[in-house]
Amino acid sequence: MEVRKVRFDESFPPGQIDFSGEELEQDSPLRAAGVAELLPQTDGEVRIAGRYTVEMMAECDRCLGRARFPLEADFDLFYRPATFLEGEEEVAIDEGEAEMGFYQGDGLELEDILREQVLLALPMQRVCSEGCKGICPVCGKNRNETACDCRLESSDGRWEAFRNLEL
Ligand SMILES: [Zn+2]
Ligand SMILES: [Zn+2]
Repeated sequence: MEVRKVRFDESFPPGQIDFSGEELEQDSPLRAAGVAELLPQTDGEVRIAGRYTVEMMAECDRCLGRARFPLEADFDLFYRPATFLEGEEEVAIDEGEAEMGFYQGDGLELEDILREQVLLALPMQRVCSEGCKGICPVCGKNRNETACDCRLESSDGRWEAFRNLEL
């Protein structure tokens, strides 16, 4: 089996990688560069290593405003085609396709890999900033923008009453 290495250096504008259904927006081109390599003495295992940068946007969990996530990360991944042994096609990386991140025969695409990396890199809790004050539970105002006069003591008092009832 021939050992092949291909370099990639791609830029994916917003919309090219499908983030629909994730409540995410891609806010900058996703730039990815690295090397895809067909590993010798394997059943067509592919190693893809590189680095990507992108800026993603999501709704802040606390204030529902826009939360911005600049991501920059390395990846070093191995892929093994599940079905290539079934076919009779030779395992090879076509130069033209490899530049676009395809691994022939099994639909391994750079877009899919990057999509997964981005989703993994985003924090579970998506907040616009660590200090986000969120939305006032009393008046519903965004407390980052407007300091409201609501007194949380009064609502605490209400809950105190409920707690006493339970006892
Ligand atoms: Zn926020
Ligand atoms: Zn308020």
